[in-house]
Amino acid sequence: MVHLFNAGPAKVPDTVLKQVQSEFLNFAGTGISIVEISHRSPEFTALLNESNANMREILEIPDNYQILWLAGGASGLFASLPLNLISSKDDVVDYIVTGTWSKNAAKEAENYTNVNYVVPIPSDFTGVPLDESMNFTSGAKYVYYCDNETVNGIEFPHTLKTDGTIICDMSSNFLTRPIEVSKYGAIFAGVQKNVAPAGLAVLIIRDDLISTERLHPVPKVWDFKLQAAGNSCVNTPNVFSMYVTNLVLKHLMENGGLKRFCELSTQKSSILYNVIDNSNGFYSCKIEKDSRSRMNVTFNLTTKELEAEFVKKAADVKIEGVKGHRSVGGIRASLYNAVSLDSVNFLADFMKSFQKDHE
Ligand SMILES: *Cc1c(COP(=O)(O)O)cnc(C)c1O
Repeated sequence: MVHLFNAGPAKVPDTVLKQVQSEFLNFAGTGISIVEISHRSPEFTALLNESNANMREILEIPDNYQILWLAGGASGLFASLPLNLISSKDDVVDYIVTGTWSKNAAKEAENYTNVNYVVPIPSDFTGVPLDESMNFTSGAKYVYYCDNETVNGIEFPHTLKTDGTIICDMSSNFLTRPIEVSKYGAIFAGVQKNVAPAGLAVLIIRDDLISTERLHPVPKVWDFKLQAAGNSCVNTPNVFSMYVTNLVLKHLMENGGLKRFCELSTQKSSILYNVIDNSNGFYSCKIEKDSRSRMNVTFNLTTKELEAEFVKKAADVKIEGVKGHRSVGGIRASLYNAVSLDSVNFLADFMKSFQKDHE
């Protein structure tokens, strides 16, 4: 058995994988595989409607929000959000940059509108900024932030405090804690971190933000208004990923819902942070304590050589996916919903014995 800590694509629950396998040649009794079926067939439409209903139930999404399923991943939304929301060349948007992904999103938005950086971009990312340090623009079209920075291992402990319209990238902590959707204008996520195979993004957006009054032309496949009217099937969607997403939604609901998975995520990440904090500096995590991610635990060893050895020795005992992102190095263990407590304990034990052998 492999203990998989991939950052994305990432672990999918074993029970879901087995169900996919058992139904693969025969979707919903049609005798047709899910990868062959028409996205306009009644069986697929039923699946999509069920998935929307499940998403609404699990996140308690109010009626005045739409759920859109879009191509282009989360990165596609870095462009399509400003394209859909900007209506005048004088518009200003506020971005809070706390790591790699929010930085990329802000750079992309600069192509389409005037971006105000709510806090200066730090040279090194070590936590979320203090509320008092944020310099919001009054009348900003929206305020953008990333709830969990996957590369850096930084997570907002709570919803951003602002009167502005919040747009939030939840790609890597989507469905890992209960949230109050009505506090946000829009929430989006690439599904490959916590949910399903890559190539699909979900956008939950308040009705009044879906407008046709736009400064720039919007590609049809990214036109929120068209996609809302067309049940996210303006063109051929990622049928397979939508199908797995629905299975994972059902799996979450059958296993205690978001409250339970939130407790588990705190428990799992605390196990690793405790090992780090009790290692007398053998392991170190540079992220400030109240910004530490429950999803992506990032840490360093004292030298690059030792880090390479750690990754190698981990693979020997079938711990996979712990090499840090290529842009920052170090070690990263991603603890999404599908990663079991057993796997996390196994990694913690490995870390302790690796320390003993290399001190
Ligand atoms: C992975 C990730 C993205 C990019 O996702 P793609 O689907 O590959 O475009 C964006 N934001 C966050 C927080 C991520 O973790």
